[in-house]
Amino acid sequence: MPTPDQDLRPPADEELVHHELPVHEVVLLLGTHADRGLSTAEAADRLRSAGPNVLPRLDRRGPWLRLLLQFHHPLIYILLVAAAVTLALGEVVDSGVILAVVLINAAIGFVQESRAEKALDALTALVRTEATVVRDGARHRISSEELVPGDVVVLEPGDKVPADLRFVSVEDLHVDESALTGESLPVAKEPAALPTGTVLGDRANMGYSTTLVTRGRGRGVVVATGADTEIGHIHRLVGEAVQLETPLTRKIGRFSRILTAAIIGLALLTFALGTLRGEPAAEMLTAAVALAVGAIPEGLPAVVTITLAIGVSRMARRRAIIRRLPAVETLGSTTVICTDKTGTLTANAMTVVAVSAGGRGYAVSGSGYGPAGQVTADGTAVDVGGQPALRACLVAGVLCNDSRLTGQDGRRQVIGDPTEAALLVVAEKAGLDLGTLLGAAPRLATVPFDSERQWMATLHHSDDGRVVAHVKGAVERLLAMSSGELRADGTTGPVDADAVHARTEEMTGRALRVLAMGTVELPPGTRELGEEALSGRLVLTGLQGMLDPPRPEAVAAVRACRTAGIRIAMITGDHAGTARAIGEQFGLGDDGVLEVLGGADLARVPDDELPDVVRRTAVFARVNPEQKLRLVEALQREGHVVAMTGDGVNDAPALRRADIGVAMGVGGTEVAKEAADMVLTDDDFASIEAAVEEGRGVFDNLRKFITFMLPTSFGEGLVILAAVVLATTLPVLPTQVLWINMTTAVALGLALAFEPLEADVMSRPPVPPSRPLLTGELIGRIVLVSTLMLLGAFAMFEWAMASGESVAAARTVAVNVFVVVEVAYLLNCRSLDRSIRRVGLLSNPWVPAGMVVMLALQLVFTYAPWMNALFDSAPIDAVWWVRVTVVGIAVLVIVETEKWLRRRLGGRRRGGDVPATG
Ligand code: ATP
Repeated sequence: MPTPDQDLRPPADEELVHHELPVHEVVLLLGTHADRGLSTAEAADRLRSAGPNVLPRLDRRGPWLRLLLQFHHPLIYILLVAAAVTLALGEVVDSGVILAVVLINAAIGFVQESRAEKALDALTALVRTEATVVRDGARHRISSEELVPGDVVVLEPGDKVPADLRFVSVEDLHVDESALTGESLPVAKEPAALPTGTVLGDRANMGYSTTLVTRGRGRGVVVATGADTEIGHIHRLVGEAVQLETPLTRKIGRFSRILTAAIIGLALLTFALGTLRGEPAAEMLTAAVALAVGAIPEGLPAVVTITLAIGVSRMARRRAIIRRLPAVETLGSTTVICTDKTGTLTANAMTVVAVSAGGRGYAVSGSGYGPAGQVTADGTAVDVGGQPALRACLVAGVLCNDSRLTGQDGRRQVIGDPTEAALLVVAEKAGLDLGTLLGAAPRLATVPFDSERQWMATLHHSDDGRVVAHVKGAVERLLAMSSGELRADGTTGPVDADAVHARTEEMTGRALRVLAMGTVELPPGTRELGEEALSGRLVLTGLQGMLDPPRPEAVAAVRACRTAGIRIAMITGDHAGTARAIGEQFGLGDDGVLEVLGGADLARVPDDELPDVVRRTAVFARVNPEQKLRLVEALQREGHVVAMTGDGVNDAPALRRADIGVAMGVGGTEVAKEAADMVLTDDDFASIEAAVEEGRGVFDNLRKFITFMLPTSFGEGLVILAAVVLATTLPVLPTQVLWINMTTAVALGLALAFEPLEADVMSRPPVPPSRPLLTGELIGRIVLVSTLMLLGAFAMFEWAMASGESVAAARTVAVNVFVVVEVAYLLNCRSLDRSIRRVGLLSNPWVPAGMVVMLALQLVFTYAPWMNALFDSAPIDAVWWVRVTVVGIAVLVIVETEKWLRRRLGGRRRGGDVPATG
């Protein structure tokens, strides 16, 4: 479906005509070549004039609007009312101070928000989109930013169309254009020229930037890049605006709104109570304002966002790029990680080490992709010329192959699929010349590999005029298509399925990935290839078994996750035997028992039994992508928070459904990355574990910050309430309360967002997502500290008054009590349950730095005459500092004692069931 704005554009636009021209004219027009593409030099030239292929960013809310929005907050309204009230009372200075606080608050919010957005933005750029381009006649993988008009681009399933293209050739190409046209079903593409006036949604011969290839292959000439593309014109969707909102920030936002309402109610009550009792209205107004501004936790929403953003950048440093901010919270609660095997748990560095052909077993030496190594039988090197079955098996591996090796021996690089590259290497080791083989059998057609089909086939023309199809893929699939098997002497006999299974099992038992090879001779003149042509006619030529070693860091990461109470389920397309052997290497079983379930058996499990099966099974083999979705849903029904990895086009639904969809940054398709919440830049399981660890850290730090912040607010509110109830002089003024809140939140509270991970984050069970941030235990502590602050500040204020100090000096003492108690309490909050002795003062340098800054500010507050004028503070004697410090230390000791008691009294950990230490 075209959208109206595209079709209303003037038809005279130059780029509009590409769909109307035949392919050769488009090629001519763009000064390129459909097969060879541009030369590298020409492409560089064009890049200089056309500029990089980047889409213009959707203009977000401009800086002014964003600044203005900082004032759109109930708290700010209260402060503005407070400023107006104080002004009306003739307190010009106070009113000015409150307004200054409003401005400073807005400025801090603005700066922090912009920084968080920028940081998140920068991260999205780390996941770069690549494109396969033909230049100088050879394929290259380049960043799609480097594409220029005239480039010839090759598309495969899962690719993002990197620029606007005019297709030159296609094979069953289907593209999801929903982002551009709103059409939800993928559309088929076809290179034929179209009549004038064909609307965008019907232009089957064009591919548009940011749409996604769901099926088939295609080749197209770039006609427009960057801002000149259709998506660039309509200027939307590009670079989804970074969302700083998450379920948690929303929850906290709601919490602060309710709190604000309650506080306003309380403030009004204070005012009413006082005036009814006959106190001067002006004084009571001041008290009400002080209570309101004091009790509202100003810094809360900002610090939550900052803590999340810090978590995101810490995760990025550990190679997990968060695409959606809420994932940071969810990660910490993950209870199951469903992971792929190849490339995530294993290195995806394939080496064929065993071949079975013509009933004989062969061993292959050498490692990596270098050609050094030998094919031996019973310890002696074999001559492939004398082994027709072995030769046929190796040749099928070379011809039915889309990969290439580049570079010299030791530093060879794979372009394409490592599984296929390994098949090239073993052929070389056997003495076959790849160039000669490929030259002698030009390819006529291809059935590409896909993980659902689990095989790939290619059709070739041979020198002697025959047409032969070569097939490779999963053993069961090829067996199902086979009618015969090549014997050692090169003749064809019936298939002995049992023997083939036995040989497969022997290989899979050694954790080898097994591919079967087969060939079919087709009638001369055949040009097309499909499953029907192969079914029941395939001649099995042999099996190749390849080693793919586990990633050492993934082994450790799996262990860490299991200690952290997270289940690991391996979900793989590979053979059950291989999956089991790898699963054992990773210790995935429970109590030494490793349950493996195949995709076919999984399909037979009825929905109501699925949860039970899922609970027992650690390895799912030969699973297709649709089944992944079913598994995610079953786990979620069990109440699990599921992280699921995926890389292919068909994985997208499961990635979207999972609580944390994890895509592979290196081996994954653009479709998978688009559907995911998190992208791994190294495809390594260890990075998922790192992200979970950081997610738990973020959750910890948020709880620490809230536990730190709330008592100050509550304590201040209580002090004022108590003063009104007891009808005594206010121990703190509204401006002083604002001073305390602002300075302590920034200098002290923020330091908690940088708290390093606690040593035991990965030895507790996951926190259920339903669990509130504040547990009963923490609420208890908040009440305790609020009460201590109330008692401390009130008592010291009264003591100072009784000692003949001025009201200003007594209030300064009270303010200093709040600040010093907070400095001490900050140390308590660095760990919510461990003793501060175990945390170590220097493990978070922001904490001592914040403490020093805070105390320096407090000296200025107390002794600088201009501060005295602004805040009605007054210098105090040193003896008051000693007394205030004693109060601070007392709070520190009391809270530590409370923690200690909790640990002693069978105190159970935050997770609820791990005994506390420390
Ligand atoms: P995971 O999902 O853990 O990454 P996987 O990569 O082993 O598993 P697939 O790539 O779907 O899963 O492979 C499934 C099976 O398909 C393999 O066991 C192999 O037999 C076969 N296979 C894999 N790659 C190819 C290929 N390029 N050509 C033909 N067959 C292949």
